[in-house]
Amino acid sequence: MKSSLKIVMVGAPGSGKGTQASRMTKELNIPHISTGEIFREYIANKHPLGNKIKEFIDQGALVPDDVVLEIVSDRIGREDCKRGFIFDGFPRTLEQANALEQVSQIDYVINLDVPEERLMDRLTGRRTCKFCKHISHVSIIGDSMICPDCGGELTIRADDVPETVRKRLEVYESQTKPIIDFYRQRGKLIDVNSDQAPDKVFSDILEALGETC
Ligand code: ADP
Ligand code: ZN
Repeated sequence: MKSSLKIVMVGAPGSGKGTQASRMTKELNIPHISTGEIFREYIANKHPLGNKIKEFIDQGALVPDDVVLEIVSDRIGREDCKRGFIFDGFPRTLEQANALEQVSQIDYVINLDVPEERLMDRLTGRRTCKFCKHISHVSIIGDSMICPDCGGELTIRADDVPETVRKRLEVYESQTKPIIDFYRQRGKLIDVNSDQAPDKVFSDILEALGETC
């Protein structure tokens, strides 16, 4: 087996990247790097870049590549990334994908495929735990705002309101989708049907990785 495993999760907002990556990080024992989560922490902790980042996120726009790339290269330079990592939400533009190629060779790219018409409902019904970051959905928990995993308080992400979601889906179509072909051409893409129960999606991912690793 290789001494490191570098994975990128791709897919539309709401396709399940965060849900699946947090399961994979436990199974594979490599860190889960979510750029969206890092940005939300920068904002919550009042980091000097936080205000600038918040403006983009609140509009459903992308954070500029130079900001993203600096944060990412700092993160993958840390000790815990020596054995690999799972990117969730990065790269999100062709520029970011090209820049990543200069610094690191990705092994597999998992494309979580969900029919476009399912995404609005998946995102606006999403509930995220303030404490353990567990992601749930109103179709499972109803009106409850209590985390089924840790009992903590659930929140609705500020960018999960319909208007911002529409913008994020447009940005995905025009700016992020091209990276699917970029990785397909390089023979790295693994397509997974993510319009299934989370457990089934997860076992499909592990099966696909098991066949190729
Ligand atoms: P989702 O995948 O559900 O859209 P994320 O938590 O990955 O949610 O991202 C939330 C927001 O953070 C994005 O809408 C975007 O504004 C910003 N963001 C995250 N990752 C990147 C990135 N690699 N490049 C630019 N902006 C990003
Ligand atoms: Zn929780």
